[in-house]
Amino acid sequence: MRYQGWLTWVTLGLAVVFVPMALDSKPAPINFTGEIDKVIEKVDPNFKTTTQQTQKSETSASDTPIESIVQNRKLSRTYYYHFDDNVSAGAKAVFENAVNVYNQTGIVKLVPGTGTDRQNSITFFVYSKQMPSNGNTTMIESGHGGPQIIQQTGWNAYTANHARAGLNVYYPSAAIRKSVAIHELGHALGLDHSHYRNSVMYPVDQGNTQLSSGDIGTLKTIYGTEETK
Ligand SMILES: [Zn+2]
Repeated sequence: MRYQGWLTWVTLGLAVVFVPMALDSKPAPINFTGEIDKVIEKVDPNFKTTTQQTQKSETSASDTPIESIVQNRKLSRTYYYHFDDNVSAGAKAVFENAVNVYNQTGIVKLVPGTGTDRQNSITFFVYSKQMPSNGNTTMIESGHGGPQIIQQTGWNAYTANHARAGLNVYYPSAAIRKSVAIHELGHALGLDHSHYRNSVMYPVDQGNTQLSSGDIGTLKTIYGTEETK
């Protein structure tokens, strides 16, 4: 069975949580603007016949958009990541490969561990979800992932991203792939979908395992350039 052309991704958890401050003479309003978005991308039915098109050259970092809730946030470049208990050794290895791809940029730094509430974290998980058949085609969700911004106001102000990235192991051959893990981890770090097929953030799996210049440019926009200290 071939899944090619019908892989879809879901963007998860675009929740912004404003934690009310604990100590301040003038409490800030609890401004909960969270929303959970779950969007299955439309798959181009002509995908199989358009894969040979010449890729557009990328011209700016905006080629890979920033997830809206991450825009204009000051996030640390350091993330602590861990795995849910039910993640298999094989899936862990795939996630670790994706972690290495981002660490090699020098822009973000992903280290094993859980971190504190005020530190950035990523939870890697697996889930099993069978997609309903729609006529004679089935759109497969291979994973989902996304940022969750914690905004603490007041004297103890901080901003942290408690993100998640997961693979749909109901379809192991489609989902337990380095390219899918890189895509979902990209969402977790704040990257949104790109129109460019050479981006790891293209909504349909292209098997890309290298970040495009647009992907890297957007990471720099979010996290700043490599620190020397
Ligand atoms: Zn996606």
